[in-house]
Amino acid sequence: MSELAMRAEKLDAADDLRGKRDAFVLDDVIYLDGNSLGALPAVVPGRVEDVVRRQWGELRIRSWEESGWWTAPERIGDRIAPLVGAAPGQIVVGDSTSVNVFKALVGAVRMAGEGRDEILVDATTFPTDGYIAQSAARMTGCTLRPVAPAQVPGALGDRTAAVLLNHVDYRTGRLHDLPALTAAVHAAGAYVVWDLCHSAGALPVGLDEHGVDLAVGCTYKYLNGGPGSPAYLYVRRDLQGRFDSPLPGWNSHAEPFGMRSGYEPAPGALRGRVGTPDILSMLALEAALEVWDGVPVEAVRAKSLALTDFFLECVAAYVPEGRVECLTPVPHAERGSQIALRCDGAGDVMKRLVERGVVGDFRAPDVLRFGFTPLYVGFADVERAARVLAQTLG
Ligand SMILES: *Cc1c(COP(=O)(O)O)cnc(C)c1O
Repeated sequence: MSELAMRAEKLDAADDLRGKRDAFVLDDVIYLDGNSLGALPAVVPGRVEDVVRRQWGELRIRSWEESGWWTAPERIGDRIAPLVGAAPGQIVVGDSTSVNVFKALVGAVRMAGEGRDEILVDATTFPTDGYIAQSAARMTGCTLRPVAPAQVPGALGDRTAAVLLNHVDYRTGRLHDLPALTAAVHAAGAYVVWDLCHSAGALPVGLDEHGVDLAVGCTYKYLNGGPGSPAYLYVRRDLQGRFDSPLPGWNSHAEPFGMRSGYEPAPGALRGRVGTPDILSMLALEAALEVWDGVPVEAVRAKSLALTDFFLECVAAYVPEGRVECLTPVPHAERGSQIALRCDGAGDVMKRLVERGVVGDFRAPDVLRFGFTPLYVGFADVERAARVLAQTLG
C-alpha cells in the first residue's frame, strides 16, 4: 500500500463525519459530482412513497392542511436557514434558482429606487444568472454591466442599483469574499443578491451575520434534494416590507383564499412565494434535509478543505507534471468544495474516468470538475480518484 493510501486510511478513521455516508444510497462508484446532483439520502424513497400513497392517495385535498402541504415552502425554508446562517422567517422554498434570481434581482432594483439604473453582474457567472439579469435589466430600464467579482468594488457608483454575485464560481470553484463584497455594495448604497448554489451545504455562508440583502440557491447540489428539487429565496427580515416581487402570485397574497381581485402582499418571507408549490419535490427535499440533523456546517467545511487539500496532494504525487493545471485557488479562503483541473481532451478523459468508476464532470471547453461532498466522500475515495486519473492520463 502506498504512503498516500495509508494516510487516507488514517484520515478516514479519524473523520467524525464518516458515519454519515450510511445515510445515503451509494455503491462502489466514487461519486465526485455532488456539486451537480447530490446523492440520494436513504430516508427519501420511503417518505415519497408515504406522500404519494397516503397523503395524496388517501387524504387527498385534506393534506393541504393536515399534512402541512400549504406551509411547506416556509417550513422547509426554516430548515435550510441554519445551513446558510439565517434566523427563521426569511427563506421560502419554491420555483427554480433561475426564477428566484429574477424575483430577487428585480426586487432589489425596485428597492434601490429612482436614479439608480445600473445592475452589475458577475462576468463569470453560471449562464442562467446572466440571461435572467439581462432580462431583468431590460424590464427595469437598467443597464447591465458584467464585472469580475474582484473588480466590483471599483465598479460601484451612485447609479448602481443592484449587484448579482456567485458565492462560489461553478467552473473554477473559486470562493468569493461575501463579507467584503457585501460591505462594498452597501457602502455604495446598492443592494446585493448572492447566488449560493455552490456554497450552501458545503461551507458556512453567514447571511445574517454579513447583512446580505437577498440570496438564492438550489437544493439539488450539496443539499441532496433530488433532480429538479425546488430552490429557495432569502429576503433579509428588515427588507421584507419593501420587497416588491415581480411575480406576485396568489400564494404570496396576504389572504390567498379571499380570492380578491386586488393584490396585497403577505407579510414576511411569504411574499417570495408565487403559485402552488411542487409538493412531491418539496417533501422529498424536506426528507433529504434530515441528514443534516446534528451536523455543524463548520465540521463540513473543515472536512471539505481537508478532502480538497488531500486530492491536490495526490494529484501532484500521481499525475505526470504538466498534464493538468489546477484552476481552483489554493488558499483556503478562496476555495469552495470542488477542484477544477484544466486538461487537454478533458471531455474524453472524463468519459474514461466514469467508465472506471470515478464520476466527476466535464465543463466546456477543457475543464475536469470534481466535487467533494463531505457527508459521503472519504479520503480513500480521494486517493483512488487521483490514482485512476493518473492511470487514465498515463
Ligand atoms: C446550478 C446553478 C443554477 C441552476 O439554476 P436552475 O434554475 O436551478 O436550473 C443557477 N445558478 C448557479 C450559479 C448554479 O450553480
